Amino acid sequence: MSGQTRYDISREMFAELLEGEPRYRVEQVWKGLYTDLRDPADITNISKRLRSTIDELLPPSLTLVRESVSADRGTTKFLWQLHDGHLVETVLMHYRTRTTVCISSQAGCAMGCGFCATGQAGFDRQLTVGEIVEQVIRAAQRSAPRRVDNIVFMGMGEPLANVDPVFGALHRIHDDIGIGARHMTVSTVGIVPGIRRFAELRMQVGLAVSLHAATDTKRNKLVPINKTYPLDELARACHDYTRASNRRISLEWAMISGTNDTPKDAEELAAYAIPLRAHVNLIPLNPTPGWPTVGSAPSIVDAFRSDLESRGVNVTVRQNRGTDIDAACGQLKADQLIASPNRRKRS
Ligand code: SAH
Ligand code: SF4
Repeated sequence: MSGQTRYDISREMFAELLEGEPRYRVEQVWKGLYTDLRDPADITNISKRLRSTIDELLPPSLTLVRESVSADRGTTKFLWQLHDGHLVETVLMHYRTRTTVCISSQAGCAMGCGFCATGQAGFDRQLTVGEIVEQVIRAAQRSAPRRVDNIVFMGMGEPLANVDPVFGALHRIHDDIGIGARHMTVSTVGIVPGIRRFAELRMQVGLAVSLHAATDTKRNKLVPINKTYPLDELARACHDYTRASNRRISLEWAMISGTNDTPKDAEELAAYAIPLRAHVNLIPLNPTPGWPTVGSAPSIVDAFRSDLESRGVNVTVRQNRGTDIDAACGQLKADQLIASPNRRKRS
């Protein structure tokens, strides 16, 4: 069995790899890898020979290039290199009562949202199940003794443009690492067929939709995929997801000065959010090199929040984490080390 990495293979494939060993050995190693978050070399209840066989046959898929810690020490950003030289980032965030890992689903992103550093840099390739799951494991190892409670697919890439590996990873994180579905959130730019498939999973994973504008004219400019999946169609898919998962969706709104932060924008957002019974998260726009507009001033964010509340919308202003290490929402932009002829550059 070659070409497989440590967290890509299924339990059945793993059993084949350990052919000749008793069945409980498979369980021991599986538990060592996923529950105890150990590297094979540290699974001490199996023989040294078996540890090194596993280590050799199933290499990790992420090589740590850089680890950056924010000044307040609450946020750590990992830059990983994949086997083919592409780079992805993962963010570990400690809060007072919980720890969250923000993971990437693709190397780069093809959706081209102009305000997002990942979108500005273009698309490299899809991640595999193992490359996604390993981000959680490696961040959780670093987090110990603090347990990781939540997983958010809000790193690089559009998860619902890479559905099979992302769904495979959700199952693995749920079944084997043991993080509950209600403690995971997939954030999407609004890929309607992906939302429909997500609904079929029936996993009660949270869905966050990055809205940013509530009229098609404005959203077409900010989020180009809106031309393919306009707001009405998106609302229907969100409604169906709510029904299928029994979970309220959230709408993400990056507050961009003078662009989507006026009372008119609040009125349009409320009209979209209320029928969906959606929760709204406001995130002041984080700075990126390729976008001239700045985030809304705190007083504007506050007024926008009150305006939404007075219209009956459930709203939270999201805390900005790790801006000093470029680890905040939309700032992930792993500059590639290899020259890739396939990369689609955005200008
Ligand atoms: N592709 C998915 C998930 C990754 S982006 C999506 O778009 O939802 C994660 C979140 O960061 C999204 O809500 C996205 O809109 C937001 N975001 C992107 N650029 C940002 C920026 N510069 N400032 C604040 N949020 C940003
Ligand atoms: Fe891709 Fe999300 Fe960034 Fe848009 S906001 S470019 S969908 S990662």
